[in-house]
Amino acid sequence: MSNSSAVLDGQRANSGKSTMHALVYGGPQLKKWSEVPKPQLLHDTDAIVRVDVTTICGSDLHILKGDVPEVSVGLILGHEAIGTVESVGSAVKQVKAGDRVLVSCITSCSICRYCREGHFGQCLNGGGWILGHLIDGTQAEFVRVPFCDTSTYPLPKGVSDEEMLMLTDIVPTGYEIGVLNGCVAPGDVVAVVGAGPVGLSAVKTARLFNPRAIVAIDLDNKRLDQAKQFGADFTVNNGTSDPLEQIMKLTGGLGADVAIEAVGLESTFELATTLIRPCGHVANIGVHGAPVTLHLEKLWGKDVTITAGLVDTRTIPNLLGLVESKKLDVSDFVTHRFRMDQIIEAYDTFANASKTGALKVALTP
Ligand code: NAD
Ligand code: ZN
Repeated sequence: MSNSSAVLDGQRANSGKSTMHALVYGGPQLKKWSEVPKPQLLHDTDAIVRVDVTTICGSDLHILKGDVPEVSVGLILGHEAIGTVESVGSAVKQVKAGDRVLVSCITSCSICRYCREGHFGQCLNGGGWILGHLIDGTQAEFVRVPFCDTSTYPLPKGVSDEEMLMLTDIVPTGYEIGVLNGCVAPGDVVAVVGAGPVGLSAVKTARLFNPRAIVAIDLDNKRLDQAKQFGADFTVNNGTSDPLEQIMKLTGGLGADVAIEAVGLESTFELATTLIRPCGHVANIGVHGAPVTLHLEKLWGKDVTITAGLVDTRTIPNLLGLVESKKLDVSDFVTHRFRMDQIIEAYDTFANASKTGALKVALTP
């Protein structure tokens, strides 16, 4: 890992005088809404942000399953937030106390080689995915945001906090790692495997390119219904029907122009590579915790492009503009709302999406 800088030193270096509540990771399957010391500025580029709304991500569930071993016991989870700046370090130039900001799930030093190329996820100076992963996160009343000048964004007028919250992680992920890496173009047939919040973000942002058809594929009929509402033209339950048959019917036997994988399993990655036409793009978004077979014996001669990556959130400014100008509607992701002190209930609701129909939950103080 490259996240080695001083930013990661010392977690809540703190006088212990003032406290707050936060969702603390206690090891696999364990989490608790606990009283902990309030974070303080550790570096001159930090901000302390009061969290006005936060949410839970599929990655938090991965952490609680024990799939992300680098998360240490005692860490505060969460990497998505809209908040109000409480204080800033002496080197901060853009952000000041009282500003309302979007906190990106990806932190950027802005000066390392990768940040200069817009690959903030690969930051060499202690940025990247650190919130709720390597340092205390956003499922708390307050959060310390390193490199706050280049890791937060001012909120546009006339857009709700809940809408902005969707731009901290899931929408940029579906857009950058799915739609842009997959090179979706006008007239394309786009297959999206997995209709969770991230797959649905890919469905929504693929629409911006005027594709001929978007086919959402999932095992959960509730999610497929949501995919229709989010802009999918066709849905296939791959537990009961063959998605390849549908795609072949739609494309005159060629295959999908773009296949986006938004689940993170070997079977769904293989499915995406099966659906693709010669010269098409397979864009993997899913986080894979186990090895995956790449069937080059079938793919080598098909001139396909396969991409995989961690979101950079470099498109946040662009997406903010699209939402502000009503060209992109992200108001329908939040299905359930809770107070922060009901976060354990919120986790249960979110984790049982097939029963509850939950897509994203919003948590406010
Ligand atoms: P999610 O768990 O909410 O959604 C996954 C969807 O896949 C669900 O609707 C589920 O029913 C469906 N599914 C499960 N097994 C399936 C199968 N065999 N066939 C078809 N569908 C199946 O997850 P999410 O929050 O939408 O995230 C999707 C993936 O993206 C996860 O792996 C997540 O960790 C990953 N992710 C990656 C990045 C990145 O930067 N690359 C960022 C955020 C999330
Ligand atoms: Zn960097």
